[in-house]
Amino acid sequence: MGSVGAKEVPVLLNADGLRIDGRRLDELRPIQIRAGPLPQADGSAFVEWGQNKVMAAVYGPREVHPRHLQQSTKAVIQCRYNMAAFSVDERKRPGLDRRSQEISKVIAEAFESVVFAEEFPRTSIDVYIEVLQANAGTRCAGLVAASVALADAGIPMVDLLPAVAVGKIDNAIALDLKKEEDNFGQADLPMALVPQSGRLVLLQMEGHMTEPELAQALELGVGGCRVIHEKMKAALRERYSTAPLAAGAA
Ligand code: ADP
Repeated sequence: MGSVGAKEVPVLLNADGLRIDGRRLDELRPIQIRAGPLPQADGSAFVEWGQNKVMAAVYGPREVHPRHLQQSTKAVIQCRYNMAAFSVDERKRPGLDRRSQEISKVIAEAFESVVFAEEFPRTSIDVYIEVLQANAGTRCAGLVAASVALADAGIPMVDLLPAVAVGKIDNAIALDLKKEEDNFGQADLPMALVPQSGRLVLLQMEGHMTEPELAQALELGVGGCRVIHEKMKAALRERYSTAPLAAGAA
């Protein structure tokens, strides 16, 4: 247990170039994705990524609530990212705060660039993301979960949207920061990629990086996204390639 209130910055990178959890700079935390854990929803996914645990559920296309958000030419994508009060060590105040509103907005905008919303005018596609346990990178874990949930719901999209954060710790660019690295590092750069085109549809940055560092971070992040994309596809394949029901036992 760490000393309460201690301010000293932990060593984020040791002499061997390894991080506090033993990872190399270009290594992701372990990630597991399950498609379809909530049969009641139209689509769902559960993501365990390092110590993050995130559930996503998708409903729709369905009637728009509130009604005035309805658009005559396309579906409106509504996203609600929420961190459970018990998802962090210090109890988080429940409910929507500015941070969750911002994250909900950037995630909805990311999906707007890949979902074929024109196919469902006057409807809503509702995306719910519940963070049950948070350890940095939850917007990326939420995006990955929601993206698999959208596919599970059969929503037509250009592609799945893998996401990952890259950061700067002890002056080095590192893939997929965990909590201590996010807290004591120098920068955090979450991104989401359309794998097919290589286009980034979410890119945010907190902290400072030089231009060459930014280029390195983007390259590392895109590589990370491609690995995560494979895991997303595998989760969907696993869900939909199960043996036929009642496998004909005579
Ligand atoms: P992300 O989770 O996408 O990295 P942030 O960089 O805003 O988003 O948050 C980093 C981490 O800080 C979160 O994953 C979570 O572990 C922690 N955190 C965020 N908001 C709170 C909060 N209100 N109370 C306690 N911890 C929080």
